[in-house]
Amino acid sequence: MKTITILGSTGSIGTQALEIIRNNRDRFSVSALTCRSRKDDLIGQIKEFGPQAVSVGTAEDAAAVQAEFPQLTVYYGEQGLIEIAKMDCDIVLNSLMGISGLAPTYTAISCGRDIALANKETLVAGGALVTELCREKGVKLLPVDSEHSAIFQCLEGNGGSACGRAYAEPSGALHRPVRRILLTASGGPFRGRSFEEMRNVTVAQALNHPNWSMGSKITIDSATMMNKGLEVIEARWLFDVPADRIDVHVHPESIVHSMVEFCDGSIIAQMGLPDMKIPIALAVSYPDRMDLLPDFADGYGHNDPDSRLTDGSLDLFTAGANLTFEKPDRKVFRCIDLAYAALREGGAAPVVMNGANEELVAMFLAGKIGFLDIPETIERVMQRSSLPAPHSVEEILEIDRQSRVMAKEILK
Ligand code: MG
Repeated sequence: MKTITILGSTGSIGTQALEIIRNNRDRFSVSALTCRSRKDDLIGQIKEFGPQAVSVGTAEDAAAVQAEFPQLTVYYGEQGLIEIAKMDCDIVLNSLMGISGLAPTYTAISCGRDIALANKETLVAGGALVTELCREKGVKLLPVDSEHSAIFQCLEGNGGSACGRAYAEPSGALHRPVRRILLTASGGPFRGRSFEEMRNVTVAQALNHPNWSMGSKITIDSATMMNKGLEVIEARWLFDVPADRIDVHVHPESIVHSMVEFCDGSIIAQMGLPDMKIPIALAVSYPDRMDLLPDFADGYGHNDPDSRLTDGSLDLFTAGANLTFEKPDRKVFRCIDLAYAALREGGAAPVVMNGANEELVAMFLAGKIGFLDIPETIERVMQRSSLPAPHSVEEILEIDRQSRVMAKEILK
């Protein structure tokens, strides 16, 4: 029995993880849950999964939850997330939104808990600190992001993957036969448009992702393709591969979730339907794989090959007819190059970029700024900022705060 703590249990990843747990009660139990604002959803989850503790966004919500469950330990706010991250469990699934995921991840790693990481901002802003602590504590950092789960799977048995095993090696030195990481991207809802054509797009248009159903922040990041930029930085830290060995491939069908090219010219790809349950399940059950598909009716499936395609399998006769790849348009989707630049510059640059982006996405979602204000302002914040490299979570959070202030000032 694996005990799981879910940070952000009422969001897209959190609810899908609970669905997996619901169908596998013999394998998993819930240790703790947290939400920011969906208190009523959390109450339903408490009734169903019986956690030992929860954390909510505000003191007011905490009092309401406590009144309903007098025996339950109830925390709230940023400190509440830290208390939950300290609690005993086998694995912490971090599906928090944005930089708020960093401090709880760092705390959970400090306590030696394995991490299933859906919160990419943790690695974008704190990659050096977090991966160093993982090595020190021998903690497994298992990617939930679909592309990174794909890369992780391609690396398994091919010189090892950085997540977990290699991080536990005291030397930290990796001699792997990896030549390149081919990071795939759907291209988002505005693929094929010119930069100016995106100037007046609406929030609803930007939220209309062609393939993936996700939270609103990551969906806007996909529309600007900052999501891919953040994922380049995430891959650099997860797999210890330099930026110039990570190539973005736009693949609109979202069937190939990423690939690894090895030194002998072999490219290994991981494919599947665009369903986040696959990477979530692998991260929480690693090193096992879970039964997410029903077995064939006859046990082997050799009676009727066509019936295999109607039971949830990826039907390559249909999907595979059009697996296409194209270069990203970097002049239009400027966020990709901003992320590469931030990664090459290092120090505070990725934190600044991430902080400005998070603030600007929230402003766009609130209808306060236009879509192109996001990339244009991030670039200006990055040019203006000369903040020193951070050496602690506190310093990262301070740089994040200052970058948000700078973004708002520029737009005034
Ligand atoms: Mg992704």
